Amino acid sequence: MVKALYAGSFDPVTMGHVNIIERASKMFDELIITIATNTSKKPLFASDEKIKLVSESINHLPNVKVVSHPSGLTVDYAKDNGIHVMVRGIRSVKDMEYEMDIAAMNSTQEPDIETVFLMADAKYRFLSSSLLKEIAQFNGKLDGLVPDNVAEAMKTKYKS
Ligand code: ADP
Repeated sequence: MVKALYAGSFDPVTMGHVNIIERASKMFDELIITIATNTSKKPLFASDEKIKLVSESINHLPNVKVVSHPSGLTVDYAKDNGIHVMVRGIRSVKDMEYEMDIAAMNSTQEPDIETVFLMADAKYRFLSSSLLKEIAQFNGKLDGLVPDNVAEAMKTKYKS
């Protein structure tokens, strides 16, 4: 039984994230998604809202579970839950450089952890939560870029 962990801010979850989740769910027996609070960014969605949005977006995948991980290192969460694989998505060379540092840092904390990188699907490699927030803020089109529930939630957020 191989469990894997996909951690991120998911503020909000995009079709790029969903694509990685769908592909990783076929590779591992169980995929756990942790929603981290990134202290350097002010989030648009609260943790419970993000859990709801991600859960709704992946409810067609029975072996995927969403949990909140408000504080502490992701690598410690993995260790405490008997997980040895972390999944990350790579969109560009810039992501690659950043992700290599994180993977190397994680292995200093827990040598048994392996990071598995999945290349972004060509359709989604330009997608980022931050760009989508700019689009949504000015009432731009979100169809096919985020799940429908996320598009609705973003519209509501920016209206209020
Ligand atoms: P973080 O703030 O921790 O980078 P994100 O939620 O933005 O969290 O991303 C989580 C992971 O998903 C990262 O590995 C990131 O590179 C990857 N990712 C983000 N957007 C995409 C996308 N469009 N396609 C593939 N992977 C992506």
